[in-house]
Amino acid sequence: MSLTGKTALVTGASRGIGRAVAERLAADGARVAVHYGTNETAAKETVEVIAAAGGDAFAVPAEFGTDGAIDALYDGLVAGLDGAGLDILVNNAAIFDSADGIHDVTPEQFDRLIEVNVKAPLFLTQRVLPLIPDGGRIVNVSSGVTWFATRDIAYGMTKGALNVFTRSLARTLGPRGITVNTVSPGITETDMNTWLQEPGGAARVAAMVALGRHGQSADIADVIAFFASDEARWVTGEALETNGGLWLGPNDD
Ligand code: NAP
Repeated sequence: MSLTGKTALVTGASRGIGRAVAERLAADGARVAVHYGTNETAAKETVEVIAAAGGDAFAVPAEFGTDGAIDALYDGLVAGLDGAGLDILVNNAAIFDSADGIHDVTPEQFDRLIEVNVKAPLFLTQRVLPLIPDGGRIVNVSSGVTWFATRDIAYGMTKGALNVFTRSLARTLGPRGITVNTVSPGITETDMNTWLQEPGGAARVAAMVALGRHGQSADIADVIAFFASDEARWVTGEALETNGGLWLGPNDD
């Protein structure tokens, strides 16, 4: 219970990787704010699972990309923290758009991806910074698409921006002992990747991963928990690829 007495905000914690992060940080002893966009049922489930395991969590809604979302999240967070500060911020929520290749992407699609994946973490971090004490932790969830090329050009560009965000913020907040790091998942089984359930989907990924399978949300959450812990106090401005060894080389030799 290394996070006993600490608090955490995990954005996009109703489902997928964010939910696993919220569960893990709560299991480590933190009181966790479970942020979600619109899926109240899923957020309640996350809170219930944490409570059933003996942890402490509360849900906070705010749909990024809509007016007043950052203020609404801040107000819900402050109410739930009940006077406490915010020790750990995990910027995880994001959207993916499979029709955003160079031939198809529209200005509207691009704006929405930027709003949710880049503008929201930037201005949420700005808003909650006064709540984060010296020695606090910020973890941004990016993606391997910043180093391997996909056709999803706009989504990839948002994640590249997030990597730059991490390094700049780490430099700015270093004097306060606040660490800022990026965790970049590989192909992970969540609602973002329903194609993994299609015939041949999982096998196709297994063939390009050294450890021979796709990732699970808990694989990512455990690494984020490390960056959130005291053990990671001497690491800042880093990006860690967390993908089981994606495309290290051919698996058929
Ligand atoms: P997911 O299962 O689709 O869950 C997305 C989460 O973000 C949900 O909690 C959702 O809330 C929230 N969200 C979506 N749009 C939002 C909005 N407009 N405002 C506020 N919250 C919103 O996603 P995931 O696969 O766990 O991905 C988590 C992170 O990992 C993302 O940053 C993603 O880019 C990154 N990543 C994922 C993979 C992968 O293979 N899955 C790979 C690389 C990187 P609601 O439930 O309310 O909709």
